[in-house]
Amino acid sequence: MPACGGGSFAPTPAPSPAVTYDVIIVGAGCAGISAARAALGYGANVLVLEAQNRIGGRAYTDTKTFSEIGFDLGAQFFQACLTGDELYEIAQAQGLTLLDSSGNGPPASLLTSITIGSSPADSIDVAAFVVAGAALKVAILTSGAAIAADPELDVPVSSILTPSITSLPWYVPAASQAIGEIVGGTNMSLLDLYVYTNFEPLPFAVPGSDFIVKSGMGTFIASLAKGLPIVTSAPVSSITTGGATISVTTGSTTYQAKTVIVTAPTDVLAKSNSSGSITFNPPLPSSYLDAFAGLPLVPIYKALLGFKSSFQFDVPPGTTPTQQPFSVVFPLSNTESATFFPNFWSTNTCEFIANGTLAQTLDAAGNQGAAPILLAQLETAFPGATAAWDGRITGSNWMSNPYFGGAFSAALPGKYGSRALIQKPIGNQLWFAGEATSTGGERGLLLAAYRTGLTAGTAAATTALKISSASQRKH
Ligand SMILES: Cc1cc2nc3c(=O)[nH]c(=O)nc-3n(C[C@H](O)[C@H](O)[C@H](O)COP(=O)(O)OP(=O)(O)OC[C@H]3O[C@@H](n4cnc5c(N)ncnc54)[C@H](O)[C@@H]3O)c2cc1C
Repeated sequence: MPACGGGSFAPTPAPSPAVTYDVIIVGAGCAGISAARAALGYGANVLVLEAQNRIGGRAYTDTKTFSEIGFDLGAQFFQACLTGDELYEIAQAQGLTLLDSSGNGPPASLLTSITIGSSPADSIDVAAFVVAGAALKVAILTSGAAIAADPELDVPVSSILTPSITSLPWYVPAASQAIGEIVGGTNMSLLDLYVYTNFEPLPFAVPGSDFIVKSGMGTFIASLAKGLPIVTSAPVSSITTGGATISVTTGSTTYQAKTVIVTAPTDVLAKSNSSGSITFNPPLPSSYLDAFAGLPLVPIYKALLGFKSSFQFDVPPGTTPTQQPFSVVFPLSNTESATFFPNFWSTNTCEFIANGTLAQTLDAAGNQGAAPILLAQLETAFPGATAAWDGRITGSNWMSNPYFGGAFSAALPGKYGSRALIQKPIGNQLWFAGEATSTGGERGLLLAAYRTGLTAGTAAATTALKISSASQRKH
């Protein structure tokens, strides 16, 4: 059924301001695409307006910089597949080349040849790193369970970080993995961190749970938009509700609709009258504005660099380094550092993922500014890396782009309930969907965008068409 991602829709007529659409969708990321598929599935007349000159939102594969492999500057992993990930199942059904992220790394060299400054990391360092990570997980899961039972008790993550944890060796890189990459920092909501950690306690470590796709996640998500009525380079500047129809303005064109679904990221929705923002008439209730502001986007930076040769390091017996399509190296440096993925998909490249203030620095530096910082870090694990760089780099700019602001939403302390609040439609005319509107453990992930898009697309279409959601779908 197309609404579930399996097929494509017939091309639709050119968009027209003279038409009253059943559903207009703002944003052609994963949520906008799944909302459009759901609404079309009920036979609704749909139009999608997207600010960028491309489709996929925060799932974006750069297929140009590296001829040998596409690189996902945004979402990359199907996560928590063991508990059911519909997007992973669609990719499987399409016969795409998928790689289990666990079992392909880390290389044996993590135990033997990574350097920290001038001294090699040994198995004791690695064991200490694992202990720090485990201590953090136990504290998150134990304290979080109590707060989940009574969300009023939510606190900043920092309040559970006792000196017995923060003084552990390799606390900084362990906290980067367990906290920074999920909610952005220790000043964020413990409940929000718990909900995700409880959903997937050991991301990328449990076989069968997390997968990457060789053709690229962005390419895959964009493929789900085949045949959808999407206008790109069409930033929506205002939405006027309350009348018989809703007016949605992009540039000098105003379209009319019975219902509207907005999937723009929370950072976009929280700002008013500045670049990339949407003006709502009448203004949104202050509770919604507070909710968007309570769910800011986490800073994550990603880059791929090209090298003249492959990275050499210890590998399991019987394999060679280039047979390792996906290896992860946590540089055991007790300062902020990126995570490296050398020999990405068996090419002479290295992927980098950073979070926190390092991510903000790299995002702001742009490609040429970021390269020396990343190479200097890589040198600590692979001496000679800088000399081996072939000059190619592609890096992300999610924080600098006014239509995003970061990677995925995380709640401020006490603001986890904002996710449920923004799920509620306004006046049966205006819905919000997207990763931030999910209250499940998948909140923040592609899966949340996909699921909330389907829900909002169904609700808006059936409202506009005055039918029940159990009605026969047209596709
Ligand atoms: C670096 C990074 C790594 C990530 N890693 C993973 C991962 O491995 N696995 C995972 O599941 N998730 C990951 N995520 C999160 C995932 O990408 C998001 O959850 C998901 O893509 C969000 O989809 P969405 O449709 O809710 O929002 P978006 O994809 O942001 O779509 C919203 C769309 O709205 C558009 N828009 C904004 N303002 C306007 C406007 N005024 N008018 C018109 N259009 C507008 C935007 O251009 C955008 O295309 C990652 C994200 C990033 C950035």
